Amino acid sequence: MQNQTISPATPTQIVVLGAGYAGLYATLRLARRTRRQSVQITLVNASPTFVERTRLHQQASGQAIPPLRISDLLKGTGVHFVQGRVTVLHPSHQQVTIENAASGHTRHYDYLIYALGSYTTAAALPGGAEHACTLEDHAQCAGAAGTTFAWCTPPSDRRRSDGSGSGDRSG
Ligand SMILES: Cc1cc2nc3c(=O)[nH]c(=O)nc-3n(C[C@H](O)[C@H](O)[C@H](O)COP(=O)(O)OP(=O)(O)OC[C@H]3O[C@@H](n4cnc5c(N)ncnc54)[C@H](O)[C@@H]3O)c2cc1C
Repeated sequence: MQNQTISPATPTQIVVLGAGYAGLYATLRLARRTRRQSVQITLVNASPTFVERTRLHQQASGQAIPPLRISDLLKGTGVHFVQGRVTVLHPSHQQVTIENAASGHTRHYDYLIYALGSYTTAAALPGGAEHACTLEDHAQCAGAAGTTFAWCTPPSDRRRSDGSGSGDRSG
């Protein structure tokens, strides 16, 4: 008698929330490890592009960071990408609610990876709302590039006397 792997009719559903460093790497490794198994992996993220948070200070200081489309990063892996914002978790029903501009829907999972990262609440500190700028996504950094980093750098510093002209204000 031959050894056979019997796959269930319905694949095991793994849902990964958040395509930052943690969620994206977990997804890619899971996809590799489960490629011969009856498993469907779904990755959910608010934006269609991977936000390289460790480089956001560069964007805030005016450097161009090429966008990385999550669907391109997942090519050939079999992972299903859903762009949308996770709004509700229903652990007792093993479901999550995901909303995007077009609609909202609820998705079942057998296993869930929660990798939604963290956000800074600058407004919780006195003066934070008025004087702090946080770097958490591309939109915030675009705003910071046009305001904070522009006024905190004296015009004379924008071109270095050594002629490099790089004037990197991101350090
Ligand atoms: C400017 C800057 C420089 C940094 N430099 C370093 C460094 O040099 N070394 C280092 O170790 N760390 C550094 N960090 C910290 C590092 O970026 C974080 O530790 C890391 O990003 C955390 O990864 P994560 O996957 O947990 O979360 P994130 O990278 O924040 O990813 C979370 C993802 O979930 C998505 N998301 C959030 N909420 C929802 C929702 N409700 N629905 C759908 N999607 C959602 C977000 O859009 C994001 O894509 C830096 C951070 C910043 C801001």
